[in-house]
Amino acid sequence: MPGDALDHDPAELRRRIDTSRAHPARVYDVFLGGKDNYPVDRAAAAAGLAANPRGYLDVRHNRDFLRRAVTALAQEDGIRQWLDIGTGLPTAENVHQIAQRIIPDSRVVYVDNDPVVLAHARALLTSGSEGRTDYIDADLKSPAQILEQAAKTLDFDRPVALCLVAILHFIEDEEAYPIVRELVDALPAGSRLVLSHLTDDLNPENIRAVQRTYTERGFTFVLRSRADVERFFTDNGLTLAEPGVVPVHHWRSEPAPVPEQPDPAYLASLDDIEKVRYHDINDVTDADINVYGGVAAKP
Ligand code: SAH
Repeated sequence: MPGDALDHDPAELRRRIDTSRAHPARVYDVFLGGKDNYPVDRAAAAAGLAANPRGYLDVRHNRDFLRRAVTALAQEDGIRQWLDIGTGLPTAENVHQIAQRIIPDSRVVYVDNDPVVLAHARALLTSGSEGRTDYIDADLKSPAQILEQAAKTLDFDRPVALCLVAILHFIEDEEAYPIVRELVDALPAGSRLVLSHLTDDLNPENIRAVQRTYTERGFTFVLRSRADVERFFTDNGLTLAEPGVVPVHHWRSEPAPVPEQPDPAYLASLDDIEKVRYHDINDVTDADINVYGGVAAKP
């Protein structure tokens, strides 16, 4: 049954959630201005910001790339099935909300391996009545399991947009390329791949300093060049859509909504992490962004 993943044993889930160790999904949530994180995650985010003071812009712009890509594929290409692997914690605009606003009967399967995301997954299962959403508690390193479970909700004879957004830096080369191949091979013609990836091409010093802080915390953090990122598309026979693989803020960019500013005295009282919530993401330069993004079609 779709939604099986939510029949978890709460005690088992509590055992899997480690509040003494930073979890990538929660650190990412800190940078998005979310509240589902613990002091250890905020400390990891603070160390990341010390290494790269405007690093939250990578996260914000990565998330906005996902929003623009989903919007474009639904609006212009009529894509109505989505497999979003490495979903992250639910935020204001998840794939199903964006897609179903445009095509109400869109189906979305979310996949993440972090028990923290599983604990919040109910917020992802708020499909409109015409569509469907499901959540799979699985690891990207088990693509066959993901495909089998996703087939309960998605029709693999019709185009599916596979989203691998800000997840492949957690996987080393010898596994990453074969995994993406296996997933793309399972998709029918007309399917899409939406992919973003951290890189050290753009601002190497800052992002390598960030890499050191996260590696110390036990995260795998693989930075890939533009050519290495392009390989995820071209090795699998996919046709990149314009403008190709580019820094995410340049992928069909458009201004994002500006957050309402609090009282200046209140703003001044906040620490750097809390201030992130009020930053205008349109205040960005090329020196801030370390993430490539691209979208491609399977012929
Ligand atoms: N795709 C979202 C969130 C990115 S954060 C976005 O771009 O906004 C990366 C997410 O990938 C985290 O939630 C983390 O738990 C998940 N993740 C990392 N490694 C994973 C793996 N091997 N299998 C499944 N999910 C993974």
